[in-house]
Amino acid sequence: MRRMNHRRTLAVYLILVLTAVTFAQRRAQPTPANTQPKRPRLVLLIVVDQFRYDYLERFGDLFAANGLRRLLSDGASWTQSNYDHMPTYTAPSHAAMMTGAYPAESGIIGNEWLDRATGKRVTSVSDESVKPLGGNPDEKASSPRRLMGSTVGDELRLATNDRAKVIGISVKDRSAILPAGRHANASYWFSTTSGNMVSSSYYFNELPNWVTTFNNAKPADKYFGAKWERLLSENEYVRRAGPDTPSWEKVGSLSGDTNAFPHTITGGATSPGRVFYNALKYSPFTNDILVSFAQQAIVNEQLGQDDDTDILSVSFSANDYVGHRFGPYSHEVMDVTLRTDRQIGTLLDFVQARVGLSNTLVAFTSDHGVSPIPEQAAALGLDGARLRIADLLGTIRAAISARYNPQGKTPDPAADYLLKDSGTMREWFINGNVYFNYDALRRDNINVDEISQVVVAAALTIPGVARCFSRTQLLRGATSITDPIERRALHGFHPARSGDVVIVAEPYKYLGDSTTATHGSAYSYDTHVPTIIMGPGISAGRYFDPATPGDIAPTLSALLRLTPPSNATGRVLIEAIRK
Ligand SMILES: [Zn+2]
Repeated sequence: MRRMNHRRTLAVYLILVLTAVTFAQRRAQPTPANTQPKRPRLVLLIVVDQFRYDYLERFGDLFAANGLRRLLSDGASWTQSNYDHMPTYTAPSHAAMMTGAYPAESGIIGNEWLDRATGKRVTSVSDESVKPLGGNPDEKASSPRRLMGSTVGDELRLATNDRAKVIGISVKDRSAILPAGRHANASYWFSTTSGNMVSSSYYFNELPNWVTTFNNAKPADKYFGAKWERLLSENEYVRRAGPDTPSWEKVGSLSGDTNAFPHTITGGATSPGRVFYNALKYSPFTNDILVSFAQQAIVNEQLGQDDDTDILSVSFSANDYVGHRFGPYSHEVMDVTLRTDRQIGTLLDFVQARVGLSNTLVAFTSDHGVSPIPEQAAALGLDGARLRIADLLGTIRAAISARYNPQGKTPDPAADYLLKDSGTMREWFINGNVYFNYDALRRDNINVDEISQVVVAAALTIPGVARCFSRTQLLRGATSITDPIERRALHGFHPARSGDVVIVAEPYKYLGDSTTATHGSAYSYDTHVPTIIMGPGISAGRYFDPATPGDIAPTLSALLRLTPPSNATGRVLIEAIRK
């Protein structure tokens, strides 16, 4: 019996060896042509923070030939590209671009949220376990540890045994870190305390030499006292945006500057330092710093120099700071947009010279739009307003007391049913989320479903509140996916990180934001952004199919023949892929 088995094993072994030899011979013969099409050498993701789709239309005739106009004419552009989540903030959307995932899957539900485990507010990228590199030692350090799942860059690195290089650059840490991903080579952002381009020990133990050299030249300091003037003649601006200093433009607390051109960039300081570096954010000049830093990255990291595709993402943040301060219908936003167009032209020309645009896939998008300043919207009859959070929470508190303390006992046993910040002793209210104090609800045996309904009903009585969703409702799937607001709330909700009740304001109304102009809503002025892809394999044209920047990741993955990022739910934009 044993011998029989042995013989059979030997026979099988011989057959296997013979097959392998035959196969090897066949493989060794030269193939007539390499049928595998070449991958592009570089993927360049260009993001402009707070760039509404309509900026392409309102200012498009003033664009230069080598910038956005080149992307529009040589690339595929989607006219109906909207985020399908809320809140439409920087971090959730920057996470969506290269993961293809909603915040519900990426876990990046806001720029900040409440970490229930510690009772502290965290940012999307804050990480106490890493050290800052390149800035001042007291700086907070950041990493992609809160990002759930992989990016296109992570998958590319996996597919190439780490030969692919993946680098993210921005003024904001979150905008540099999130598109690059967890397994990126590096992310760099601008430190407003040192004026340097910095990173963290998440990526390496010390900055590459070229970064230190870049910082030693003090790239920010040359803009001290710079005058920001209009790029074109004033009448072009008046024609599109009205007068330069309308009453609704409030410049906030930035000293040494007014809301009129020209803007002198000092922050009110007498020499470069923290105050000035912070003021510099509100000018177009940090975009210039990013362009030269990106050029240095391309040269020194040899991006796009071999057949293993590299990824560079560059996210321009100046547009967001300027937009928050002056609003979408200002001379300043128009001017920073025109300047960004030229800056993108410079970057594309550089890539053309160094890598070749025929070897480069360029994707262009934004993380969100912005709403008109509420006072301007109100003046135009659009019913703009600012809802006060204190009033909102007061109404909710009163409803909770009416239901759970009907006799009006003092102290009110229901006074701590909403979760409070242990420092300020004020109720948490972040990203339109209200939080329950689970310990107190458990103590008094309060049914979470029931108190949720009490809060939702109360919130809906507040003037300016359009919708209100409870955790139980969202988790149960008791929302309609054909209703865009409900769907976007659902896509923005992560069970472990979101609050217990989500409040949605009416169009043109801000939930307690004191900045001049802001974004975050599920309305088109915040969700409608450009999505453009240009490069090998892409058919140029204007496409009217619905799209979202979350489609960039699966589309790039398809073009690069990669496994899509782990949580990608976007679609491949097949209408523009050359067959
Ligand atoms: Zn943003």
